[in-house]
Amino acid sequence: MKTITDRERRQALDVLVVGAGPAGLGCALALDAVDDLRFGIVERGTVGETFRHWPTEQRLLTPSFTSNGYGSPDLNSVHPDTSPAYSFETDYLSGVQYAGYLRGVAAAFDLPVLENTAVRSVRRDGGLFLVGTDRGPVPCRNIIWAGGEHHDPRLPELPGAQHLQHSASSAAWQRREGPVVVIGGYESGIDLACHHIADGAEVIVVDGDEPWSEESVADPSVRLSPRTLVRLRGARATGRLTLIGSSARSVTRHAPTPGTEEYVVLLGNGRRVRSATPPVAATGFGPGLGPVTGLFDRRPDGWPLLDEDDCSTTTPGLYLSGPAVRHDARRFCFIYKFRQRFAHIARVIGESLGQDCGGLDHWRDEGMLIDDLDCCGTVCAC
Ligand SMILES: Cc1cc2nc3c(=O)[nH]c(=O)nc-3n(C[C@H](O)[C@H](O)[C@H](O)COP(=O)(O)OP(=O)(O)OC[C@H]3O[C@@H](n4cnc5c(N)ncnc54)[C@H](O)[C@@H]3O)c2cc1C
Repeated sequence: MKTITDRERRQALDVLVVGAGPAGLGCALALDAVDDLRFGIVERGTVGETFRHWPTEQRLLTPSFTSNGYGSPDLNSVHPDTSPAYSFETDYLSGVQYAGYLRGVAAAFDLPVLENTAVRSVRRDGGLFLVGTDRGPVPCRNIIWAGGEHHDPRLPELPGAQHLQHSASSAAWQRREGPVVVIGGYESGIDLACHHIADGAEVIVVDGDEPWSEESVADPSVRLSPRTLVRLRGARATGRLTLIGSSARSVTRHAPTPGTEEYVVLLGNGRRVRSATPPVAATGFGPGLGPVTGLFDRRPDGWPLLDEDDCSTTTPGLYLSGPAVRHDARRFCFIYKFRQRFAHIARVIGESLGQDCGGLDHWRDEGMLIDDLDCCGTVCAC
């Protein structure tokens, strides 16, 4: 295997950010606030690639609002001085709008993004990384992996899972005849259900955890968001939505008569639900680590194990940003959560290279920096 040359060592970036979604751009903006850091961003598509491919019906469920200036930046902004609500004059942005916001941010801050360049491999050698990209190797001292989850849809592990359509596929959103069966009742499952109800369909949602039920937990990573609860009430009022608090155990496909199909989902409570089209799995995503999969250890629940600075515990200099970040029971799966770590990662890297990180104080002043993990969690008195 080729070793890193002296020339590559001299040319090495301080940081390579992989991915130009909200996590990658947000980290890059924080790195930009540190003095004299040499960094770059590589993106396999274009800026905001994932959001550009969202089904047109889908909207961000976290609302945008121009609350910046009072220590409370827009929930979907990736820099304290920007607001998607201001840019697009709307509160629940579509994927295309949010991608437009990200493009605007990249341009306004003149971020060094190399588009249409996928990272294929990552190797560590003598304190440096050599990152294999479509345009050749990039040597760097640190990597921030911000590749997102959307390219890593997760189907449930049950017999017949191959018959399911994942909620991230556009097919799951297409109009269909007869009842629609959705496995998974958290955000994307209820979002899909409301979408098909609005189309006039009858919908059955199955989930043993019953995320739709009343509960005391206020954390939106566990409980449905207010917008979804409002939509759910409307969908229930039609009388065409059935919510079943039981998990799917298997899926089978039959052909009752030539040219017809029937899908049968067996539930843990012994009940069977049927549809003429493939059931939809709204069962979430994996961590999407791609070529850095082997460079992270795993938590008992399978998610990447990180130290308190969001760095891999097995590969020094490899940081993770985005919805796959988890510390104990805390899940940083929304933009307003994982953005709290952009400035922290930038500070850790900046200080390790002896740079002045004073520019990051603005992020803390504006409520976009959490470096004490004990302080997060959502408990609302009412
Ligand atoms: C259906 C859905 C709805 C959601 N709604 C909300 C919401 O309302 N509010 C909220 O806060 N969060 C929401 N989320 C969570 C969402 O995942 C994150 O907010 C956001 O998309 C994650 O940002 P990211 O930058 O980590 O990932 P992405 O936006 O996916 O960006 C990752 C980027 O990395 C690039 N990339 C990946 N691999 C490589 C590679 N090997 N080389 C180069 N580039 C690569 C991709 O092309 C992509 O552009 C939602 C997620 C889903 C799936």
